[in-house]
Amino acid sequence: MNGPTATAGSAAADREAVLSMADVRTGSFGGTPLAVLGHPIAHSRSPAMHNAALAALAADDPQFASWHYRRIDVPPELLGEALDLLARRGFRGLNLTVPHKVMAVGLVAEIDPAARRAGAVNTLVATVKGWRGFNTDGYGLEAAIGQAFGAGLAGRPVVLLGAGGAARAAAVECLDRGCARLAILNRTPERLEALVNLLRPLAGATPVEGLDLASGSWRSIPAGSLVINATSLGLGPADPAPVPLAALPRPAAVFDMIYQPPQTALLREAEALGLRCANGLGMLVHQGAKSLEIWSGVAARRTAPTMAAALG
Ligand code: NDP
Repeated sequence: MNGPTATAGSAAADREAVLSMADVRTGSFGGTPLAVLGHPIAHSRSPAMHNAALAALAADDPQFASWHYRRIDVPPELLGEALDLLARRGFRGLNLTVPHKVMAVGLVAEIDPAARRAGAVNTLVATVKGWRGFNTDGYGLEAAIGQAFGAGLAGRPVVLLGAGGAARAAAVECLDRGCARLAILNRTPERLEALVNLLRPLAGATPVEGLDLASGSWRSIPAGSLVINATSLGLGPADPAPVPLAALPRPAAVFDMIYQPPQTALLREAEALGLRCANGLGMLVHQGAKSLEIWSGVAARRTAPTMAAALG
């Protein structure tokens, strides 16, 4: 914005102003600006965690003192304009969240092969050719699941709820890591079919099936599965669980990508059934640390602890 750049890691980082497209059109941004774009975006805790990591890095390396991470509310129909303007305004990197991850694939100059396979990007870095897109959600998921449950996705039967941007990255990660089988449940059949078709060439011998979320016909799902919620059902405090967990063959563990509220109806049900469970805070940290690695070259394992501490 016009005026001095806010200090990296200021105590007010969690109260970072929500910028609008009007700010992007008229403002100038000093130092090395970064931002997350979404709609809505006011709930995002990414500025708090990134600015804390940048402040810690600045203590050892003064170049990071001028880096600052903001949040910008960008409606989907203005994403193309926002990406053009932010490149011209000197932004070094961007994160994309709901609802931009799939649409942005068609708007970037280059795309990392793993993000192309997922058909979704959550991290952009400025290059001389324009924005280059990456996807760090899969990395964040694998790291968070390993941390929460003591072992990652390899060898597990997985039940994935959802077929949006986050589910795409999760599904590709499950296959890349060698999950035992993958069942995907989604409300809208067309989106489910599109994801299953995208995965077919990647699946090799791993069984992949798409199931209607509302069907209640889940006999093919084995007991001992890892259930991953990648739907946005649960973001509202009164939202029900996307599936009645008790109706599934008994899962081994439940991971909900949602972290706000910290306990969704799905996680409450998992706890009541005595299942191991975790919310999406760990994933937020690890995908964010990987994004910062892409922008700065600093290894994700170095910044992840500071980011986790900033989220409390
Ligand atoms: P998208 O908008 O791309 O996808 C939303 C998904 O939720 C779709 O599968 C959609 O189904 C489903 N859905 C939405 N409303 C309902 C409903 N009422 N009943 C059943 N299904 C529903 O969002 P993303 O994939 O980007 O994000 C999904 C979730 O993951 C969000 O809650 C997001 O906050 C979280 N997330 C967390 C991360 C972390 O770091 N912890 C990282 C990335 C995402 P349909 O196809 O039928 O519309």
